[in-house]
Amino acid sequence: MQLRAFFLETWAIIRVMNYCRLSNALKLIYSYLQSYLKQHVGLHGKPMAFSIEPTSSCNLKCPECPTGANLLKRPRGLMDIRHYRQLLQQLSPELFYLNLYVQGEPFMHPQFPEMVSLASQHNLYISTSTNGHFMSPEIANALVRGGLSRIIFSVDGTSQESYGLYRVGGNFNKVRQSIIDVVRAKARARSAYPIIVMQFLVFRHNERELPQIKKLARRLKVDKLEIKTAQLNDFGSMRPPLNARFSRYADSLGQQLKTKSNNRCWRQWHSATVTWDGRLAPCCYDKDAEYAFGNSHDNSLQEIWQGDKSILFKQQIFRDRSQITICRNCPEGKKLF
Ligand code: SF4
Repeated sequence: MQLRAFFLETWAIIRVMNYCRLSNALKLIYSYLQSYLKQHVGLHGKPMAFSIEPTSSCNLKCPECPTGANLLKRPRGLMDIRHYRQLLQQLSPELFYLNLYVQGEPFMHPQFPEMVSLASQHNLYISTSTNGHFMSPEIANALVRGGLSRIIFSVDGTSQESYGLYRVGGNFNKVRQSIIDVVRAKARARSAYPIIVMQFLVFRHNERELPQIKKLARRLKVDKLEIKTAQLNDFGSMRPPLNARFSRYADSLGQQLKTKSNNRCWRQWHSATVTWDGRLAPCCYDKDAEYAFGNSHDNSLQEIWQGDKSILFKQQIFRDRSQITICRNCPEGKKLF
């Protein structure tokens, strides 16, 4: 299962590559390495990956998510489709990897399938992540036809009881049916895409269900099962698993990261995030876009990304990233890339 998914993902990336995108990626790698060695920020090229937020609203109340816990300070809303088209125009010559989600449930945007098709017209690898409550056979067909490359379904339990402990307000059977809808749509279209990923966040309450989730993944014929460590926040109530392999924290309360936070972040060279209202944020850890470098309604993404705020932010990471609140709970930087 996992090996096939690996080849499908690799092929999906290769087929959207061209000379311009490849040379841009090489420029980014070079400028990141040079900046790291000199400890002085130099940015050449444009981000090769972007996350765009279709909406900041969500139907569930997951306790470790600021949207679900109703703690998001920025307003809720939907990305304007005309602005989305402009962003794609700006980004697509160099971009090859597009994530259509940040905060919120992307399928709550009524034009979500259209957003996928528009991105597909620019020949991009397109990924999204969903709680699976807004799927239907028609939407599944539209996603397959529209050229979605990967869809991640959050399934953190194998029964309504355990699933609902984290996905508060969620319906386990509905999510299972949504996965079946996409599997069937792919079979009807004889398409290998979108790659279906079932994602299982491991907490204390569900760590015993790992054998069952593997069985469920096989039964539902998903392409890949991703067992992920959960990010815990000071406002949440969840506990990390006792099995240290599935926890990113060194302590049993989830307060101390296992990895040493090195003063570097490759993500700051290769990608960025745009919220539904156009703010260019450094990454998805900046839930409230409080470190936003600017707004794409006022300036081009490239102007903002190369601007003073962005450069100073990156320089601060080299100096001491523990001074940046959002970076304290982030495992990025463990490796150079
Ligand atoms: S939180 Fe900081 S270190 Fe982590 S990805 Fe974002 S900018 Fe990089």
